[in-house]
Amino acid sequence: MGNHSSFPATLTDRFGRRVDYIRLSITDRCDFRCVYCMGEDMTFLPREEVLTLEECARLIRVFVDLGVRKVRITGGEPLVRKNALWLFEQAGSLPGLDELVLTTNGSQLEQYAASLKAANVSRINISLDSLDPARFRRITRVGDLDKVLRGIEGARQAGFRHTKLNSVLMRGVNDDEAPALVQFALDHQLDITFIEEMPLGEVAHARDSSYISNTETLHRLQSQFNLVSSTETTGGPARYWRIPGTETRIGFISPHSHNFCEACNRVRITCKGELYLCLGQNDKVDLMPILRAHPDDDNALRAAIRHGMEIKPAGHDFDLSRAEPAVVRFMSMTGG
Ligand code: SAM
Ligand code: SF4
Repeated sequence: MGNHSSFPATLTDRFGRRVDYIRLSITDRCDFRCVYCMGEDMTFLPREEVLTLEECARLIRVFVDLGVRKVRITGGEPLVRKNALWLFEQAGSLPGLDELVLTTNGSQLEQYAASLKAANVSRINISLDSLDPARFRRITRVGDLDKVLRGIEGARQAGFRHTKLNSVLMRGVNDDEAPALVQFALDHQLDITFIEEMPLGEVAHARDSSYISNTETLHRLQSQFNLVSSTETTGGPARYWRIPGTETRIGFISPHSHNFCEACNRVRITCKGELYLCLGQNDKVDLMPILRAHPDDDNALRAAIRHGMEIKPAGHDFDLSRAEPAVVRFMSMTGG
């Protein structure tokens, strides 16, 4: 493969931010249809428009060569992709990669948790928006809560620690469950992060009526739990709180309320091989044509990735009052 420099490489954008974290969506398909994420009838991409697993593995290897230290595999639902485990095994054996992590809806985790642990996956984020089976079904349209709960238990049994729940709250749908979800996290030694709904893609409901700010959620939680603000950061958009005497971290991802962009350390790659430089902007570099035009030489790929650093935007610009979504792609394409 292409030339390697013997110096440890780094990716730095034009604002001096070091990019050492990629999130790679390995499929746009999913076994759920969460109302804030997808329409009811989604058309998924034909297979030839989706990166092969070999292309995914090559991308990860090249990014790690360029200085990336953390890779998150996401989707769609990554664990519904056939042979997804092979990719985890490839990535998990790369020298230079410090953290291989996964975001999943948990539906297949009971089956895969032990193999993912064996493949060197370091941590797992599991989405969980409700503990009520009927409500869980309403939000995911088709999901089975019990299966996800078994997946969470499977991750624990496989030896995963600091597993994190991701919860998207929607006003009038599940916003009253924030305390119950935190209590569940405490009872199971999990972390939990509340994500504000983002206007990504066109969905069946009006985003501005379902939107609930994390400030409101925090106030609700503070009336029931002793939350102590923490200075911890992961270079990402989450602010953390702790409950003294417990291991649980409570995070809030608030793209609307806080400007976290100046510390941004990440880029995203869709399952079509588009390198998106910002979740909330449309600036991108198409890596798939380059991957396919240069199957045996990584130089063009490296140059395209470096070009991406030059066009990474300063920050995002979400506005819920706009009639059209600011960003037309769905989270299931870009990866959460
Ligand atoms: N299927 C996996 C899952 O649900 O965890 C991984 C992909 S999913 C797109 C990643 C995360 O994005 C999930 O936690 C989901 O709740 C969140 N998400 C999806 N659409 C969103 C939206 N419009 N606003 C905020 N979060 C969203
Ligand atoms: Fe699927 Fe995850 Fe989107 Fe829900 S949030 S529809 S589980 S990709």
